[in-house]
Amino acid sequence: MSKRTKWDTIGNSDDSKKLPIYQHKASLQQAVKDNSFLVVTGETGSGKTTQLPQYLHQAGFWRDGRIGVTQPRRVAAITVAQRVSQEMRCSLGREVGYQVRFDDCTTEDTVVKYMTDGCLLREILADPVLSQYSVIVLDEAHERSLNTDILLGLLKQTISPTDKASKGRSVPLKVVVMSATLETDKLSVFLGGCPVFTIPGRTFPVISRFGCAIGQKDTESTVYLKEVVKVALDVHTCEMSGDILVFLTGQSEIEKACDMLYEKAESIDYRYDVQDRTVEGLLILPLYGSMPTDQQKQIFQPPPPGIRKCVVATNIAATSLTIDGIKYIVDSGFVKQLNHNSRVGMDILEVVPISKSEAQQRAGRAGRTSAGKCFRIYNQEFWEKCMPDYTVPEIQRTSLTSVILTLKCLGVHDVIRFPYLDRPEERFIMEALKQLYQCDAIDRRGKVTLLGGLMVEFPLPPGLTRALLQAATLGCEDLLLPVAAMLSVENIFIRPGHPAKQKEADEKHRMLAAQAGSCNDFTILLSVFEKCKASDDPSAWCKAHYIHWRALKSAFSVEAQLREILLRLRQKRDFPMEKFDGNKSELFRRCLCAGYFTNVARRSVGKVFTTMDGHGTMVHIHPSSTLFDQEGQLDWVIFHDVLATSRVYIRTVCPIRYDWVKDLLPKLHEVDVYDLSSVARQEVTDEEMAKWETKEAAKRQTGGSTEDYFKKLE
Ligand code: ADP
Ligand code: MG
Repeated sequence: MSKRTKWDTIGNSDDSKKLPIYQHKASLQQAVKDNSFLVVTGETGSGKTTQLPQYLHQAGFWRDGRIGVTQPRRVAAITVAQRVSQEMRCSLGREVGYQVRFDDCTTEDTVVKYMTDGCLLREILADPVLSQYSVIVLDEAHERSLNTDILLGLLKQTISPTDKASKGRSVPLKVVVMSATLETDKLSVFLGGCPVFTIPGRTFPVISRFGCAIGQKDTESTVYLKEVVKVALDVHTCEMSGDILVFLTGQSEIEKACDMLYEKAESIDYRYDVQDRTVEGLLILPLYGSMPTDQQKQIFQPPPPGIRKCVVATNIAATSLTIDGIKYIVDSGFVKQLNHNSRVGMDILEVVPISKSEAQQRAGRAGRTSAGKCFRIYNQEFWEKCMPDYTVPEIQRTSLTSVILTLKCLGVHDVIRFPYLDRPEERFIMEALKQLYQCDAIDRRGKVTLLGGLMVEFPLPPGLTRALLQAATLGCEDLLLPVAAMLSVENIFIRPGHPAKQKEADEKHRMLAAQAGSCNDFTILLSVFEKCKASDDPSAWCKAHYIHWRALKSAFSVEAQLREILLRLRQKRDFPMEKFDGNKSELFRRCLCAGYFTNVARRSVGKVFTTMDGHGTMVHIHPSSTLFDQEGQLDWVIFHDVLATSRVYIRTVCPIRYDWVKDLLPKLHEVDVYDLSSVARQEVTDEEMAKWETKEAAKRQTGGSTEDYFKKLE
């Protein structure tokens, strides 16, 4: 059967015909035909993500190129692609596929492609006019993820018919921006006053109730976790049938809550406790980003008769994924968020109170099919004093280093006047330029260097990429590729809930650390990777050592992909090469220093370290580090990332010698000598460059140079 006849005969399934969007199919198809830009809005669950791409497909857009749909979240891209491939009755990866970082499930046949917004951004680097696509759907625009915001600006810039870039295409690209809430007028204005298509939804009332236990001061996970579990069980024993959706912040917390729920639910005596006699058991299901996909499928299936489903999820269940049958929400009031902390000068993963609008969105999930209830575990004081009205867009709160490099590589030199939906503060842009300059990705004129051009090819954070490239330059990429891969997958160490098992796991992990030779968290990652790979039965090896086999399997695949990128770059460009005399351990750590010299800390007193980036932040080594409890013997360290709870913790740590970063550190304090704000706007002229150099020489003479600053440390 030819593609065309097969597809043209497929209509919509009965279930999907019941969705609010179905009645608007024809007018939506027409609206996309008539407009270059279209904003589509509708309640979550109305069918935007799963149906609209199918309507576009049925309207024949695939004949001019792929229909690309972006998602801010990886899991959403995968799950939705699976669902849509079922609805379109094809196997996943054929007509309907997905691509997320390190996982490409598409073929030449793929015409409806779900992907993360980060993936599309990378595609634009290789093909600025997106010649493969006929339509781009930017989904979940209300989430305001950094990458989606940048894509909005880029598509606005390149798609305007007068723009040169669009001439590289045979037919003009269509752009549909989908948003669950508000801000649609703002989006429309941003996109030149394009039409807004509103899918009228029907929702049912949700009664929200504040708790009394959690107030302003109870931000520790252990405190609110207990309360969440208690409330969920109260709902189970006191409320009529209907499934429960619990909002927590991350994987380990969710797993803990599931263990606690499971234990407690086991002991309920259903003869007396459960009011609604149709509900007897509780089916507890976790839902978070890095979960295996087969487990995710269960989330969407209705529970067996007499059983109540309780899904314990991250914010992914707030808008990205819709689970039918939810009638009760238990809202912890917290979310895990990456924030740029200017006091610390780094992006920090933090657990923070959600915004009021987010809380309303969470509550709304209970009212899709009938009236529902939302149990907030926090009190009204918490709502008023701790929760902001709206969530700040990611572009205004995280590091812009990677996207600024991407923009520069795309030839957008004026990164200040780039069309941002919400402009980031100028100092964040400066901070990003400074970091790019520090790691040699751009030169003093703001031009992308050879190294910067290589860096942008890797879907990794800049520091890690820089370290990897340093290793490649020295011909020892075999040391860094596995580490980069291991740092790109979820946590590999299993932490069992049971205390006896936990002890055994700790023992095994200590043994692995001892076998790794030199004592640092990066070497352990390398050693686990190599040992597992070399073993006859890798999955059994993992089980015996309390290591997540699934995570390692991903790491193997990521390593191969990174190696491929490196190979391709080596063949294509004049790849830099250097020599190094010294032992392997030093070589390894020196490569790390090349990337992580912005993350250097020195022990000040006791177990406290101070960062050396000019912020002088006091940090502690995280308990998960193999160097925890050995702090007293350390002096200088580098670290991969930072976690803030009651303290600021550094994670994945490696001891270094001051000598190795001595020549790099001055770069951290050098930038004020030249004028970053012109670099942000354009490439710098020779004249301006000469002016700076004079300024710099003068500064050196007066003794205020960065070298002096560091001499004091020696
Ligand atoms: P929107 O994007 O407007 O929020 P969706 O298209 O995501 O809406 O969802 C529409 C419907 O499809 C919902 O009722 C949801 O339950 C169902 N659905 C989506 N994904 C799946 C899935 N993987 N399995 C089962 N049902 C799903
Ligand atoms: Mg959606």
